[in-house]
Amino acid sequence: MRIGIDLGGTKIEGILLSPLGTIEKKIRVNTPTDTYKAVLITVCELIRTLQKGQTKPLKVGIGMPGAISKFTNTIKNCNAIPLNNQPLHTDVEKQLGYPVRLENDANCFAMSEANYGAGKKHNSVFGVILGTGTGGGFVIEKNVIQGANGIAGEWGHNPIPDSAKELIKEARVCYCGRTNCIETILSGRGIRQTYLEISGEDIDAKKIAARATGGEPFAKQCLNLYCSQLAHCLASVVNILDPDIIVLGGGLSNIKELYEKVLAEMCPHIFSDNIVTRISPPSFGDASGAIGAACLWPEETIN
Ligand SMILES: [Zn+2]
Repeated sequence: MRIGIDLGGTKIEGILLSPLGTIEKKIRVNTPTDTYKAVLITVCELIRTLQKGQTKPLKVGIGMPGAISKFTNTIKNCNAIPLNNQPLHTDVEKQLGYPVRLENDANCFAMSEANYGAGKKHNSVFGVILGTGTGGGFVIEKNVIQGANGIAGEWGHNPIPDSAKELIKEARVCYCGRTNCIETILSGRGIRQTYLEISGEDIDAKKIAARATGGEPFAKQCLNLYCSQLAHCLASVVNILDPDIIVLGGGLSNIKELYEKVLAEMCPHIFSDNIVTRISPPSFGDASGAIGAACLWPEETIN
């Protein structure tokens, strides 16, 4: 049994994960949004609650937004919770008295799918988050690739490929300070902006998808554009990493058109004559972050 914690912007979810990948217990609490200390205390209390009744401490993995700086061991690139510049990893270990593992939430998503989900039979898995932001994680042989700077898989802040630039009307400024990041078209806010450009109306991604299903021409055009944009952007990842399978996660991964259109649209942009890459919906819903966090401790490390 392992403990997985998913530290999200609104909820913190803690689970006990069995060796078969099933969830034996699940607890959800609200994420304090005021101070770092409150977040730290809530996370540690949740872990202590899950440890109750165990003869020795279970291994603990934590997934959270942002990345861990390899130089300062503090959190960076986190915009959802007050964690930036804080030594969360060290502080949790100090509070609990044993080692824990901490990883970016998109990497945890990729780990959940690579270990127990759509990618479990594949050697290399690129897990993609299409939600509030556009993240990603790359897993090879069940191990998450962190990278020299701790940002492996963060394709969302690469520039939109030139081939996809004709698919947007005007330049889009990203919160990171750059212009035309992939996230500015593929995130929830991105698709919203595209729909606004086409129709003059500002509605969220869920409504756009529902209107497309209902046959509304602007919404259908918007989804077609989104599929093309995603195809162009993913093709550039395939040309570098060439994963066996791409698993889509996050709120926008519920759009069924993605699985019908994106792969075919990717092919002309991939540098290969024979393309066997797969694109799959996720196997787990909200629980993927916590499952992936628990998987940061592979079976063989548990005694
Ligand atoms: Zn950006």
